[in-house]
Amino acid sequence: MEISIKKADFICSSAFVHQCPKSELPEYAFIGRSNVGKSSLINMLTNRKSLAKISGQPGKTQLVNHFKIDDSWFLVDLPGYGYAKVSKSKRTEWGKLIKNYILKRQELTALFVLIDSRLEPQKIDLAFMQFLGENEIPFLMIFTKIDKINQSKLKLHLEVYQKEMLKTWEDIPQFFVSSAKTAAGKQEILAYITKINAQIQ
Ligand code: GDP
Repeated sequence: MEISIKKADFICSSAFVHQCPKSELPEYAFIGRSNVGKSSLINMLTNRKSLAKISGQPGKTQLVNHFKIDDSWFLVDLPGYGYAKVSKSKRTEWGKLIKNYILKRQELTALFVLIDSRLEPQKIDLAFMQFLGENEIPFLMIFTKIDKINQSKLKLHLEVYQKEMLKTWEDIPQFFVSSAKTAAGKQEILAYITKINAQIQ
């Protein structure tokens, strides 16, 4: 049976974690480099044209956006991390808000890390997932924009990515492939969220 989101309500934008809604609902957050296709994916998953704004301007205030889905879970749109600076100590600094949300938000059930399927593994994405691993944050990967790449190239890129991950990880995290254009991946991602929600009820 096809899973479809019926209700998606924007609840609030938060500049600090303590401003995020008080609730007991499970939360699924989406993050990635700016331009990875996060807003498009959120709109595709929720059947909305512009629930999440497409391509926010870089440099604007970073906010965490909460959307309540079918009155039973929160979809959380996190700021893009593409503009993170590498500090003198060569450690990548994530935005304070991103870091605080990920490390402190009790309700965070799973984090989807979006990766552009057309690109070879990017240092910033690998470093971000390393940070998640070190802090034992459960995450999944979503390779986006697969309509822009042919099947054999996609397969190759996934293999290259897995190889790269295995240099530092024991296992490859679970991953999905998606397209906001063809809605590829929609059912798989929603089925995953539905399954976890059922398990933790
Ligand atoms: P965000 O910055 O991560 O929120 O990225 P956006 O959703 O704004 O997408 C960045 C650009 O990529 C926009 O021009 C989108 O139209 C385009 N885009 C996003 N997802 C897809 C996709 O799955 N397929 C194609 N062909 N274009 C996409």
